[in-house]
Formats: sequence, structure tokens, C-alpha cells
Amino acid sequence: MQVQATLAERDLRHLWHPCSQMKHHEKIALLPIQTAKGCWLTLSDGRRVFDATSSWWCKSLGHGHPRLKAALLAQLEKFEHVMLAGTTNVKIVDLSEALCGLMPGLAKVFYASDGSSAVEIALKMSLHVRHLQGQTQRIQFLCLENAYHGETLGAMSVSDVGLYRQPYENILFETSVLRDLPYVNSKEDALWQDASQAFAKQMPMLKKLAKSLTAIIIEPMLQGAGGMKIISADFLKRLSQWAKTNDIHLIADEIMTGFGRTGKMLASEHANITPDFICLSKGMTSGFLPMSAVLTTNLIYNYFYADKIEAGFLHSHTYSGNALAAAVALETLAVIREEALVDRANELGVAMSAHLNEIRSQFDCLGEVRQLGAMAAVDVRVDNVAAFRQAVFQCGPEHGVHLRPLGSTLYWLPPLITSEAELAQLAKATQVTLAAALRGQHAN
Ligand code: PMP
Repeated sequence: MQVQATLAERDLRHLWHPCSQMKHHEKIALLPIQTAKGCWLTLSDGRRVFDATSSWWCKSLGHGHPRLKAALLAQLEKFEHVMLAGTTNVKIVDLSEALCGLMPGLAKVFYASDGSSAVEIALKMSLHVRHLQGQTQRIQFLCLENAYHGETLGAMSVSDVGLYRQPYENILFETSVLRDLPYVNSKEDALWQDASQAFAKQMPMLKKLAKSLTAIIIEPMLQGAGGMKIISADFLKRLSQWAKTNDIHLIADEIMTGFGRTGKMLASEHANITPDFICLSKGMTSGFLPMSAVLTTNLIYNYFYADKIEAGFLHSHTYSGNALAAAVALETLAVIREEALVDRANELGVAMSAHLNEIRSQFDCLGEVRQLGAMAAVDVRVDNVAAFRQAVFQCGPEHGVHLRPLGSTLYWLPPLITSEAELAQLAKATQVTLAAALRGQHAN
């Protein structure tokens, strides 16, 4: 008699999961998702699990938001997708106006489907401008230590997270990296306001690069995959001013930080930075559909505005400006505004910080809590980082939470709609999970 394979067995037969060591799934069960609503995932056995990372940082309005669903369905009645080259529609025009309204000086939007593609576009646009200007010596990029900008080869070339880069190191293009950055735990840190000394130390390196750089790429204020690290706003302000003075473009990768996460609509606002390019994705559609965008200025755009086709930016993605995604993105912006979710991110952050500090007081291996907007993180001192990560991932669902530490950094990046009561549930579940993981009952 043939025994029916379980869903997990069928999955592992054919699926290759993202950012995963598949062999680990011999021991770590895949979470079978049945439904997802608000901050909660419901598993096929009925367990409810808090989505503490907003599903890789994109579900800023949570799962299944009724207004986003309605916007999606309304657009579906009209049309789902028509190629954007040579066509237009009301949703994409409304969305482009709204995005350009996010910061003075932004005037043009170029659409793609995921964050990495948006980074590639910004890198290419910057280089292309130099080509059009005849500035052939400006072909270098500068990134920050612990930077993460995506998984495609260009995005990886301007990233500094060895784990992801290492196997491809030989073919990645050379990028200079600014190290010894003034990291802070919160906006209260004096360095947040004044990083003059830390910046002065960078001057010798910056001076050497001044004539060869086309652009500096940063994750404004908060580096995600590099370990949820918060950078002094004053430092980034100074870096951006230096870039402007030296005719170097600034690319702000706001793929994780955009749309309110850090307590400002755009994280660049913390330091009054006006980048030449802003990359957006993730929270843009609250994780309903893949969409990304590069916002830029008329100054950049006008270099490409010419009679010759080859002067144009001949970059295309099939789903550029997808109408369903555009409709949802527009509604996401409306909800963020109407429900004052940027302010809510700040309130939530204060409460998150208090809860995490309370948890910290119960363990002696947790470092200081760091927090910016609705992100709070803490480093855990453990001997075996891989076993700790796995144990947290494994224990979490048993206690009602889906956590995915970055190395030994435990963090919360919950939907911005999280209530106080839900936050208390998240805190309780995290505390129990941490205790179980540290007891090593799941470590292997
Ligand atoms: N930049 C940053 C700051 C990110 O956090 C990410 C995704 N984690 C990316 C770029 C890449 O985005 P995607 O995964 O959509 O390609």
C-alpha cells in the first residue's frame, strides 16, 4: 500500500528555499502556513505565530489588510498588467506623483520588481550619467561596512556581508568600504547628533577617492542584514554633504527603511539628506506584491533626455510598474498617512525597547538594546551562533513567535499595526523562546 507523502516531504522533494541550508530541514520543520492575518500566521495545526520580522521586513501593514485587498481586487477588475514602455494608466501616474512628493527635489520614478533590481538600476544610472558626461574616471562605488544591498552581482559588489559574498568574491567588482563607523544604540546617543570626530577620521580615505567615485551607497540610519545596526545621523549627513561638494552621487537604499519603519516616512529625513537616488521596495506594497522603485531628480533624468536612443536608459523589467502592485502601493501610502503609522512606529519603538530591556534583565548574555522607530535588536553572547539561530527558529513557533535572528542578533521588526496587547504577547513569546533556545534543548 502506498503511503501518502506529507506536505513537508513533497516540499523538500522539489523546493529550494531562499537563503537556506536545505540540509538543516532534515531537523528543522518547515512552518506550514494555512492563513495569515494582521501580525499573525496560522499554521495548518491551528497554532498562531506572531510574524516578528514582518516576513523579511515587507509586511508593514500586516497580512491581508482589507483596504489593500480591496484596492487589489478593484484594479483586477480593470486590468492586471500591461507593459509600461509606451503605455500609461491612472494608478501608475498617481503613484509616481505620490512617491515624488515624499521629498523635495525628487521628480522621476523608475520601476522594477524587487529590491536588488532597484539597487542595480541606481548603480547603472549613476555610471551611465558619468558616461554621458564624459567623466570616464568616475567608475568606482563606495559602500559602508556591514552594508547589504541585495543578491544580484552588482548589489553584492557594493555590499559588505561576507557570508553572502564570499563564494563570488573573484568576479565581484571592486568597491571601497568605509569602516570604523559611529554606530549608536538609539537617537539618544550623543554620536547621533555629533559625529564630527568619527567623520574627520574618514577624510584621508575620502580624499583619495574624491576623483574616482561615481556614487556612495548607504542604508540610511539603519543597516538591516548587516545586523540591525544604527548609524549616527550626523555622520551620514556629513558624508552626504561631502559627496555633494565633490560631485559624487548619493544612493540611499531605503528598501528596508522606507515607508515609516524608522519613525520617518523616509529614513533619510533623520539627517535631512537629499539623495540623488532613493531605492524603495518591501513596505511599498506592504508585501502584497513585488514592486520596487528608484526615485531620482530632474538633474539626473535630463542627462538621458536626448534625441539619440542610445542616450536613453534602456533598462527594462517585464513587470516594471505592474498595475496591481501600483494600486496596492498607492493604497498603502494612503493607509500610512490616514492612520498616522509613521508616528505609530515611534510609539511602538518606545514600547518595544521597554519590553526588550525587561527581557534583557532576565538573561545575563544579552547586550544593550538598540532601537530606531519600530525596530529593536539585541546581541546575544553565545558560543555556537549557528546552533543558537536554529534553536530560536525551531523553538519560536512552539511558543507563538516566528523569529529569524541575524547571526547572534535577535531583533523585532513587527508590522506597524501591532497593538500594545500584541506586543506584550510578542515579548512573552520571545522571552520563553530565548530561555528554551539558551537551555539548548533544540541546539544540535
Ligand atoms: N537592500 C536592502 C537594504 C535590503 O534589506 C534588501 C532585502 N533584504 C535588498 C536591498 C534586496 O531586496 P530584494 O530581496 O527584494 O531583492
